[in-house]
Amino acid sequence: YQAKGILKQVVPDTWRDAWYFRLRELNAPYEINVDLDMANQDNLTVFINYRVLDYQQRFIGATGVGLSVNAVVKLIDKYQRRYQRSVLFTDATGKVILTGSEGGLHGLKIGQPLTDNADLNDLLAQRATPTEGSHEYKDSKGHSHFLNVRQLPELGWYLLVDKRETGALDPIRHSLYLNLVICAMITLVVLLLLNGMLRRHQASTEALATLDSLTGLPNRRSFDLLAAQALQEAQRDCAPLAALLIDLDHFKVLNDTHGHLAGDEVLRQFANVLQGSLRQSDILCRWGGEEFIVLLREAEGRQAIDVAEKIRRRTEQFTFSYEGQPLPLTTSIGLSALQPGDTLHALLTRADRALYRAKQAGRNRVCSETPGTGHE
Ligand code: GH3
Ligand code: MG
Ligand code: MG
Repeated sequence: YQAKGILKQVVPDTWRDAWYFRLRELNAPYEINVDLDMANQDNLTVFINYRVLDYQQRFIGATGVGLSVNAVVKLIDKYQRRYQRSVLFTDATGKVILTGSEGGLHGLKIGQPLTDNADLNDLLAQRATPTEGSHEYKDSKGHSHFLNVRQLPELGWYLLVDKRETGALDPIRHSLYLNLVICAMITLVVLLLLNGMLRRHQASTEALATLDSLTGLPNRRSFDLLAAQALQEAQRDCAPLAALLIDLDHFKVLNDTHGHLAGDEVLRQFANVLQGSLRQSDILCRWGGEEFIVLLREAEGRQAIDVAEKIRRRTEQFTFSYEGQPLPLTTSIGLSALQPGDTLHALLTRADRALYRAKQAGRNRVCSETPGTGHE
């Protein structure tokens, strides 16, 4: 799907969706391929597709970016014209992947295998692509050609730069060197282009990592987004919104006594307790360490306190355990209610102050603080 909704559904055994099913079985984190972009008028596009996995390493989808091939074709056209050479890229099977807008070497077009052109037969000698390096050959009209072949391991492609020669030996040598220089230049530009694209894409996929890996709850980064939206909605509709800052009591002692793995397991179990105590519409996130944050939508003062009290009670009563050993646990909760003109920061600061008071007052309790009304 894309931002506007579902673009299409993928169906096995259709050529258009082959990339998806290939990616699903892929043994690497991503693949680069050249394909038609249905979302962009079927323009030929270089795609970098990533496998998206869940925390159990199960494949759940694909994400990627596409670079319209136009940009690269224009580049090839420019070099072909300026240096009077044919330029093309093939994949490992010798199929032309990219070339100038009017075709490349001997008029070969995108999708054609190099073996389609008889002039290259001697050079290929039964292989799909010529070996890397410089080659000299004659075409069917008896013209001499110099061909430079270079492998691009990053893409699994080959770059071929070809020049027809007619003159004496000196210009031929010159031509050969120029071929090499052009080869290097094109490789560099294309790799830079792809590198930039990859880096941008990697940064955006990292930003997409919104879940905490231990508990599977939203992390702080996604909380900021969810909270901003909830706050905006509450303020627009003049609806109540309450924040709970939840911190486990004496968690360090539990870690020190039973080890970090026990602590981790307890955090997972506690996340379940929290989830079981909230409505679907509430926002729950792991704030960090053993602190969690909850935004309760549509919860007036008393209702919010009831929810917080329910969490506190359930934590106290729940049998947390690690390797069969029960680990009793309590939690302290600071509560604040959204005031007109509040920022998220102000709301959370009050909840934090309330939490501090709950700890001071002996833990295993709920304290709430709203400006004006004093303490409860
Ligand atoms: P208090 O009742 O005052 O909150 O005491 P506390 O010991 O819970 O408070 P403190 O903030 O000093 O300690 C929190 C501990 O939580 C320290 C840290 O080792 C532990 N912790 C934080 N994140 C994790 C985690 O992901 N896994 C485990 N096992 N422990 C964690
Ligand atoms: Mg803490
Ligand atoms: Mg604590």
